[in-house]
Amino acid sequence: MKLYNTLTRQKEEFTPLKQGLVTMYSCGPTVYGYAHIGNLRTYVFMDLARRALKLCGYKIKGVLNITDVGHLTDDSDDGEDKMALTSKREQKSPWEIAEYYTKVFFEDCAKLNIGKPEIIAKATDHIQEMLSYVYALCDKGFGYETEDGIYYDIQKFEGYGKLSRINLDEQLSGARVDINTEKRHPADFALWKKAEKNHIMQWDSKWGMGYPGWHIECSAMSKKYLGAHFDIHSGGVDHIPIHHENEIAQNEALTDGKPAVNVWLHGEFMLVDGGKMGKSLGNGYTIKNLEERGYHALDFRMFCLNAHYRKKLNFTFSGLDGAKTSRMRLLEALALHKSSATATPKEKLESYKADFMNAVEDDINAPRVLGLLFTMIKEPKSKDIYALALEFDKLLGLDLHILPEPKKEEEPLAEDIPAEILALSEKRTQAKKDKNFALSDQIRNEILAKGYTVIDTANGVKIVRNA
Ligand code: AMP
Ligand code: ZN
Repeated sequence: MKLYNTLTRQKEEFTPLKQGLVTMYSCGPTVYGYAHIGNLRTYVFMDLARRALKLCGYKIKGVLNITDVGHLTDDSDDGEDKMALTSKREQKSPWEIAEYYTKVFFEDCAKLNIGKPEIIAKATDHIQEMLSYVYALCDKGFGYETEDGIYYDIQKFEGYGKLSRINLDEQLSGARVDINTEKRHPADFALWKKAEKNHIMQWDSKWGMGYPGWHIECSAMSKKYLGAHFDIHSGGVDHIPIHHENEIAQNEALTDGKPAVNVWLHGEFMLVDGGKMGKSLGNGYTIKNLEERGYHALDFRMFCLNAHYRKKLNFTFSGLDGAKTSRMRLLEALALHKSSATATPKEKLESYKADFMNAVEDDINAPRVLGLLFTMIKEPKSKDIYALALEFDKLLGLDLHILPEPKKEEEPLAEDIPAEILALSEKRTQAKKDKNFALSDQIRNEILAKGYTVIDTANGVKIVRNA
């Protein structure tokens, strides 16, 4: 199997350290809010990697961390702790915030058929491991104390910048004026921060009360569960220049330059309408937002599968409509294959199977697998094609075993629905067609206030009187 390693910028033949077992660490969510579909694209990618490895015969020991402390509003140590900020805003403890958003994150993952890694590690359960790591870095001379915390001295680490291939001198001259004048280099990062008296999450350390930096979390937890040397580390591309660069600096400081990670896998970003996605921009859609607009979570998974994980993916609602239609077409075609008694020639099946495995082994080429599947369903109807599609689904995760009910006659609208409600419902359908979701949501609420509920079904809109 070949995987693209960000460190070497090459597709490389993958060989795990231990025969038959892959050790893999994936950067998990910061649980201070709902995951948006961009975040979830990254976890669909992590899931695809896991599925591809399993198809290639490997067992996996995977770790996903939950960042419930230490991730500041700025990736490079400025601003407030994201958890603390939400905690203040929502008037709940950080523990409650983390618990709630972690729960919703895994619910979203389940809807998207994103498998759970073997180990889920919460940052706040590993403060002692992080502290020991920081003490060890200080003992080796890589950490230094300032008034507000303990910082990593990146100029002591020769390999700094090797993942993102940044040049430290260039970075230094281009860096903004740092508010922390005690730092020896602007890119030095916090290993541990000293807490002000009323800081909401804090633990005891030899420097008094404080809390960990974000990057130390992943170094400490990957080491604890996977050891000082493991196979794969995954995350989104935004983590390459700061978070993962800093993880490497921490890891290799303790091993005298011996790498901890063999293969760095990074998933590209999702854009919305060609631009950045963000909650403040009003386009940080969640899975719930998509469901409210009549899409199934797997329509979104299908949308993600259409692009290779290393390509930017531009989210639009018309693109999602396309994914929804092709998913339906696929399921309908498979239902016909399933009910056929005819056989497909063995050689044909073998050839499809070989093409499938070639695509999986070629840096997890999901779009190629989808293309193959759409060619395959055009074959004469046969149970064998259906069975092979289920094999493909071990990678795709589209629930191809759950086939649509036979098409029903259009359900008539109940006769006693007032004309006013029917007119509103038509207006809403038009608004949805025009992609004016703000208006369609508003009309839905208007209808609701008048005592009726509109339900989008596979056979059109249904209106029911509220109980
Ligand atoms: P966070 O919860 O902010 O720590 O981010 C969780 C994951 O989502 C990280 O691996 C990020 O790299 C990834 N991510 C953030 N924004 C996007 C985006 N627009 N597209 C794809 N992945 C993203
Ligand atoms: Zn991480």
